[in-house]
Amino acid sequence: MLLLSRSKGLLLNDYSDVQHALHGREFRAEELPFPEKVIKDYVKSGHVTVRPGIVPLNESIFDLLTGRKKWLCARCGNRDQETFATCTCGRCQKKCVYCRHCLTMGIVRSCTKLVTWCGPEPALNHRFIHQNTHLCAWNGTLSDEQSMAAEALNQTLQIGKSFLVWAVAGSGKTEMIYPAIEHQLMNGRRVVLATPRTDVVRELLPRMRAAFPDVPISGLYAGSQESNPNAPLVVSTAHQLIRYSNCFDCIFIDEVDAFPYHFDPMLEFAVRKAAKPGAPIAYLSATPPADLTNDYASGKLRGVMLARRYHGHPLPEPRFQWIGNWMQMIRKGQMPSLLCEWLSEKTNQKRQVFVFVPSVTLARDLTELLQRCGFERTAGVHAEDPHRHNKVSDFREGKINILVTTTILERGVTVPGVEVCVVGADDPVFDDRALVQISGRVGRSAESPTGDVLFFHNGKTLAMIRARKQIEHMNQIGGFH
Ligand SMILES: [Zn+2]
Ligand SMILES: [Zn+2]
Repeated sequence: MLLLSRSKGLLLNDYSDVQHALHGREFRAEELPFPEKVIKDYVKSGHVTVRPGIVPLNESIFDLLTGRKKWLCARCGNRDQETFATCTCGRCQKKCVYCRHCLTMGIVRSCTKLVTWCGPEPALNHRFIHQNTHLCAWNGTLSDEQSMAAEALNQTLQIGKSFLVWAVAGSGKTEMIYPAIEHQLMNGRRVVLATPRTDVVRELLPRMRAAFPDVPISGLYAGSQESNPNAPLVVSTAHQLIRYSNCFDCIFIDEVDAFPYHFDPMLEFAVRKAAKPGAPIAYLSATPPADLTNDYASGKLRGVMLARRYHGHPLPEPRFQWIGNWMQMIRKGQMPSLLCEWLSEKTNQKRQVFVFVPSVTLARDLTELLQRCGFERTAGVHAEDPHRHNKVSDFREGKINILVTTTILERGVTVPGVEVCVVGADDPVFDDRALVQISGRVGRSAESPTGDVLFFHNGKTLAMIRARKQIEHMNQIGGFH
């Protein structure tokens, strides 16, 4: 083993310390917990690679003629020239280009060096494996259908192939991946469960900790305080995976369709960079994107389709209700009477309700309007709301009856017995996938398997009709029609 001389003031300088600190991650040189000298020695010995943070893209003749330089951010994969800027750099005193796309994770500029470990992988701390013959403490039972899906997923990942779990909302996807996660961990593999949304990480993390009580688990999302990024099981937003490189042996992506792959290629880049080359991916989704369903249909991607919920009841099918110009009414502070009637009915039945709206402004206006109309215990949430997590937990605990929300809660948030309406389902914000996901919030628990899904609108849209068709179709496949 290579042991570096203990230079002055250096706390971490043993090979294994450096290896543990660097392996599987990507650092900006200035973030490293040791001096540049140490890194240089490891670069020389071939254990560490250093590369520039911003690199010029191959220039086309057009670029040469116009004299415009093009850039690529090596950390986040950003190629959108609009999101690069120049500054007089406070560090190197030159003009530096920097990436605005991943700025929230710390600035990457022309003079930034990205540092990764490329030497041997450190051994995982296996104590948690040797002490146990089983790692999974979940003691529920899977239905026959779930068991078959779980088994197929587990087998396929074991042979290093990717797999699609195409399962309706409420089919118990999370429980189905436990055996595969357990198998991977028992074999000393590093596993990540990635999802696009912070809310979903916050929902999954306690479930994973309960299911795998002896396994060190890290939860990574914006604002999380995580001290153990090298845990064998990481639950993370796709965005936070930018800090990893060549780390994971197996990847689970929950709610893959919420991955705005076509809007933000950075997330796909981050997942690929975090994975070891050839690591299999398990895609979990109720409404997978077309590229995955096509690969599944053509047999290129293995997978399974589950059209029934774990409790055996059909998916609630949405009803459409015309209410006229909802936007104008809410702006003017007028309560649409049919909405008022439905909410009163639900309040009297002591049912909790999600009210989805297309925008932050409408969330505010409608929340205020409802409170004014006497609907007590009503709150509104949206992505930038600093209290959103508290409000969601208050809703879970039954302290709030009506939660007005933008699409941030369309996925992953499970509250037993909740019913749902969309005010303004005809707004372009709600595409068919979003509407299917929203409908999927209802009837998820065995105690309360039914409930209303109501789309209030001012003219049916194709998205609304498609969403209803998809749900009907799934119920047909599930044997309900
Ligand atoms: Zn970047
Ligand atoms: Zn600079």
